[in-house]
Amino acid sequence: MAVVSKEPAPLIVAGGAGFLGSHLCERLVELNTSVLCLDNLVTGSLANLEALMGTGRFRFRQQDISSPFEIAGCRGIFNLGCPASPVHYQADPISTTMTSVRGTYNLLEIARTSGAPLLQASTSEVYGEPAIHPQSETYWGHVNPTGLRACYDEGKRCAESLCFDYQRQHGVDVRVARIFNTYGPRMQVSDGRVVSNFIVQALRNRPITIYGDGSQTRSFCFVDDLIEGLLAFMLATGELRSPMNLGNPEEFTIRELAELVIELTGSRSRLTFLPLPSDDPTQRCPDIDLARRQLGWKPRVPLRKGLQITILYFERVLLESTRRARRRIASAQGGLEVSHVRR
Ligand code: UDP
Repeated sequence: MAVVSKEPAPLIVAGGAGFLGSHLCERLVELNTSVLCLDNLVTGSLANLEALMGTGRFRFRQQDISSPFEIAGCRGIFNLGCPASPVHYQADPISTTMTSVRGTYNLLEIARTSGAPLLQASTSEVYGEPAIHPQSETYWGHVNPTGLRACYDEGKRCAESLCFDYQRQHGVDVRVARIFNTYGPRMQVSDGRVVSNFIVQALRNRPITIYGDGSQTRSFCFVDDLIEGLLAFMLATGELRSPMNLGNPEEFTIRELAELVIELTGSRSRLTFLPLPSDDPTQRCPDIDLARRQLGWKPRVPLRKGLQITILYFERVLLESTRRARRRIASAQGGLEVSHVRR
């Protein structure tokens, strides 16, 4: 009798074509896991997945998670499906809220019917303009519920509350990771967040745009560290009834970041100071004691090292885009010459 080999149910990565999502997909495929990536390609890109397409363990489906959809079954779900850069999530704020709330609801339903765990990518933004520092998971936050950032902050807060309601009401195994500022290769040139902006500006010797006076702080986690944290969280067993901060607790002012980027790129860029966007948090730093204790996880890549890797990545991206532009100009000129000869 022929043995029919049944493909194992995949792990779903929603938002898998994005910056974090594509690194996560790559890591899961490396670990021999079969992955179904869902992405609407609004901020994600198929170019991020090129290396995975031929592996046989990876499938891509263009899917907006905020619309209802069906999946035959899965072993687990990572929900990273939402634009995360303030520039991008504020470009279509209603869709940002819907992606966070309806998207999480749709995926929780799939988790419930499949009996699979769901890891929700939440955010340090749930703390808003924090009144306590560093921020620990027990802090309830201080968010402007009607401001420009509310679509993301409140969307993610509502998604967290849905996760814990599914846990209490339906016994769904949920893990809520509050992700702090993360950077690394595969951020887009036009991402709009501070690390990519500063590196691209420095490499082009253009002014470094500091919003406000640069005294606001952030704590930057290199992407590889974050991905290891997400995996450890998904694999963890035992009582996981609290959200968990994942980030690097080394805190820098934005001005310090700008100066470090200038130093590492050897740039001739000057600093320029622009108005601070509304509701921009003054300080942000994760307390990662819970992740250390429950996952044995802590970030390993210091900012200087992570920036060096990210700078190399952007150098390559900018070089390729210059080459493409030159080829376009050359072929346009060739076309002009041909049409000139024809006349
Ligand atoms: N920022 C800046 N210049 C830029 C982009 C951002 O000074 O070109 C500041 C921004 O105002 C904020 C911090 O850098 O205080 C981090 O911004 P980002 O958009 O990376 O993420 P956020 O933590 O605000 O979500």
